Amino acid sequence: MLKDTMSGFELYQPTDVDNALALVDRFGKNGWLLAGGYDSLDWFKNRGKTPVAIIDLAGVEELRGVREVGEILEIGALTTLTEIERHPLINERFSLLAEAASKVASPQIRNAATLGGNLCQDTRCWYYRYGLNCYRAEGNTCYASGPEALNREHALFGASRCVAVTPSDTGPVLVVLDAEMVVRNSKGEHIIKAEDFFMDPAVDLTRMTVLEPGDLLTAIRIPNTWAKQSFYFEKVRDRNSWDFALVSIAAAFVVEGGVVDDLRVTCGGVQCVPRRLRKVEDFVRGLPKNERTGELAAEISVSGAQVLNKNHFKVSLMKNLVKRAIRDG
Ligand SMILES: Cc1cc2nc3c(=O)[nH]c(=O)nc-3n(C[C@H](O)[C@H](O)[C@H](O)COP(=O)(O)OP(=O)(O)OC[C@H]3O[C@@H](n4cnc5c(N)ncnc54)[C@H](O)[C@@H]3O)c2cc1C
Repeated sequence: MLKDTMSGFELYQPTDVDNALALVDRFGKNGWLLAGGYDSLDWFKNRGKTPVAIIDLAGVEELRGVREVGEILEIGALTTLTEIERHPLINERFSLLAEAASKVASPQIRNAATLGGNLCQDTRCWYYRYGLNCYRAEGNTCYASGPEALNREHALFGASRCVAVTPSDTGPVLVVLDAEMVVRNSKGEHIIKAEDFFMDPAVDLTRMTVLEPGDLLTAIRIPNTWAKQSFYFEKVRDRNSWDFALVSIAAAFVVEGGVVDDLRVTCGGVQCVPRRLRKVEDFVRGLPKNERTGELAAEISVSGAQVLNKNHFKVSLMKNLVKRAIRDG
């Protein structure tokens, strides 16, 4: 693969959603939506992706900002991660999201990178990103799952030919908060639950989300269901200055008299999609929120894990995160 040499493309800079959608429709698979560019530019520079037309969303003001719509908080897809980290309403109601946003990459990246881009970004499996002809790149092998493969960052669950994981720090949080994705295309608007937004590799290996060519993610809506509840977010990474999660956890709890009335727990970095831990949720509901419950839940959380040759450590890491979330969240 050529490095640091971007190929030519046509640049379009629409200023409203209708024009953006017209361009998306016109170019179909040959078009590429650009938000902050922090995932996209890597691909372009290495010529891993060579779109004919880039549709730069930066001038589409209606995609930016945080607003209250009745009982719902709506965040425009082009809102930057720094804005999310600092926004008073998000901090007051959904500090879990502000905290996760604050842990993405570096401050410079967060200043330009957007929530929509964070949710739609591609996986970081380096075999794939290096341009190898793997399953995800429509080839016929997975370079990350062989006996000699370097796969300490890869999946414990749900692999289907490809063992790559979701790199998004905000995805697991939005699943916990029962968020909804607002998607527009030339036929109109539709809503997708955050939990259904990420693509199961068994269904389609070549996409990270269920968005189709022609779709634009315009906003993320968070209902008040979990507003101001007890939250827990932790991201374990190799470098604390900036790095992708090895494993992350996002959780929300409704607690009455020390007993867990309701909860949501989701992990990042262990599957191609944010992994909602439903068995943990079912087990913990109605139990005291303490270390013992956390320890038992931790065992349940990793049942069914399928380790690769270099990622065994993720099992204990995930157990510890589940225990800490339930004990301390
Ligand atoms: C050094 C470095 C460190 C990083 N660390 C982390 C990390 O720790 N955690 C983490 O989560 N991520 C990390 N990232 C990944 C990623 O760059 C950021 O998460 C960022 O949020 C991506 O947002 P963006 O706006 O720059 O996306 P872009 O690159 O503009 O877009 C990313 C993808 O989303 C699509 N897209 C963007 N907006 C829309 C939309 N509205 N509708 C439909 N499709 C859309 C684009 O077409 C593209 O495919 C890192 C990246 C770098 C370069």
